[in-house]
Amino acid sequence: MNYKALAQRLFPTIDKTPDYWEEKYPQRNLKEGARVTRFAPSPTGFLHFGNLFTCLVSYKTAKDTNGVFYVRVEDTDQKRKVDGAIEVMLKGLSVYGIVPDEGVVGENEQVGDYAPYYQSERKEIYQTYAKSLVEQGLAYPCFMTPEELDEIRAAQENESIKGIWGKWAKHRELTLDEIESHLANGEAWTLRLKSPGTLDGKCRFDDLIRGKIEMPENVQDVVILKSDGIPTYHFAHAVDDHLMRTTHVMRGDEWIASVPIHLQLFRVLGFKPPKYAHVAPIMKEENGGKRKLSKRKDPEAKVTYYAEQGFPKESVTEYILTLANSNFEDWRRMNKTESIDKFPVNLKKMSVSGALFDMVKLTDVSKNVICQMSADNVFSLSYEWAKEYCPELAALYEQDTERATAILNIDRENKKPRKDIAKWSDIPEYISYMYDETFVPCYELTGNATPELAVKVLEKYIDAVNLDDDKDAWFGRMKDICPLVGCTPNVKEYKQNPDDFAGHVGDVSTIIRVALTGRTNTPDLYSITALLGEKTVKSRLEAALNHYKEEV
Ligand code: GLU
Repeated sequence: MNYKALAQRLFPTIDKTPDYWEEKYPQRNLKEGARVTRFAPSPTGFLHFGNLFTCLVSYKTAKDTNGVFYVRVEDTDQKRKVDGAIEVMLKGLSVYGIVPDEGVVGENEQVGDYAPYYQSERKEIYQTYAKSLVEQGLAYPCFMTPEELDEIRAAQENESIKGIWGKWAKHRELTLDEIESHLANGEAWTLRLKSPGTLDGKCRFDDLIRGKIEMPENVQDVVILKSDGIPTYHFAHAVDDHLMRTTHVMRGDEWIASVPIHLQLFRVLGFKPPKYAHVAPIMKEENGGKRKLSKRKDPEAKVTYYAEQGFPKESVTEYILTLANSNFEDWRRMNKTESIDKFPVNLKKMSVSGALFDMVKLTDVSKNVICQMSADNVFSLSYEWAKEYCPELAALYEQDTERATAILNIDRENKKPRKDIAKWSDIPEYISYMYDETFVPCYELTGNATPELAVKVLEKYIDAVNLDDDKDAWFGRMKDICPLVGCTPNVKEYKQNPDDFAGHVGDVSTIIRVALTGRTNTPDLYSITALLGEKTVKSRLEAALNHYKEEV
């Protein structure tokens, strides 16, 4: 068979050789050990939390080694193309600090020496390599019709190895004349790899997450170019990751089954294969079992969910690192204020069965992140969020931004700051009593604080309260009230002789706290009182007094 003639017949317009592309896209000039990773999305516009997870790990792997992280768009399926999708996806990543060094960096915007980074613009490159395989007798045109392929599929129902191989590979050995007559008939053809695999051959590789893997070698004559001349994922992956000089391919573990095909393609193409790290999907617990975090069922599967809820980006990235590497939390404890850039991601420590998404954990991580932020920072980030997602909160803030910041600063500078806020959408509820518009009175009491005691305490406190007091004087007034209402200012004394007292200073402050905030647990009541201002304080105390009077 004259393969050269066949190649020319199939690809008459391709006049370049693989050497041309090899020279155009040379080895990268990077330091020893630098890793080149990529995100290779189809432009659907949807960014799954799992994408963000894999991307962050890929990105950090590149950054940790002074390597390169790039974005390549896998848009060979034009039917699935969604306008504006890339912009949305890139924005989704950049929120979390993932900005590609090269590749597609905006809608139709590419930077880097390995361009084009849209697969739809790489047809000539794929076809050059396809032509070269035909020239070497390593690929062939297949004219089987969809009906014939369906028949084969049906006939193979009980076969362990499916697909086009062995006796099913009907067009593997067509002569040039036979091919010529199919072509003359105008029949559509796909290009198939002439698989060199054997039934007892093995494919062995070392997955960076899963360790050593052994699988049967590929024997299928897989399609490498579809009938429109567009490559399949397998072929594009080999050509692109080779020419873009990717060193580490991190991708979903649904691709593991295809690795034998991929490694075979790298071999026949004469390429050095990349290292693979197959990332298990993020899981979710449900009814005692586990299932994949689902785009359809779980709102948190969508990356935009976190921005909508107002999780700061640091919380999400910190949380992802806890999911990625179990030692991250220890590292964080030892390096409380260090940027996550300093934490080296270890692929070997990643879960093989799939990290479990846990909202409670994310909430905890986020509370820790937020409690360490300055009030100014909390204010400005939550204000930005509110302008987009919660205009009511933005309007409250705008009444007096300094006061709003001061509210957010209550107890913030303590040694052990409170952890009330996990996400900006917690703030409206958290600060609701600080604004008359949102304050909801609730007069339920706890401990020894009864409505009877409340009437006595409030009658005295309304006269005593003075917003010019410093903190000691403020607390002094509560203590002073104690003996007047049958309580003791000394909690210890109360504990020794509880029957001698109606309560202690803690009960007195509970009554005042409930009157002013509608809650039994709040941050520092002195600061709250000062920020509420005299008018509000007086009117809430009066209202509470009237309420309890009616109750007793
Ligand atoms: N476009 C492929 C996907 O979204 C990329 C897989 C890969 O990273 O190679 O699954």
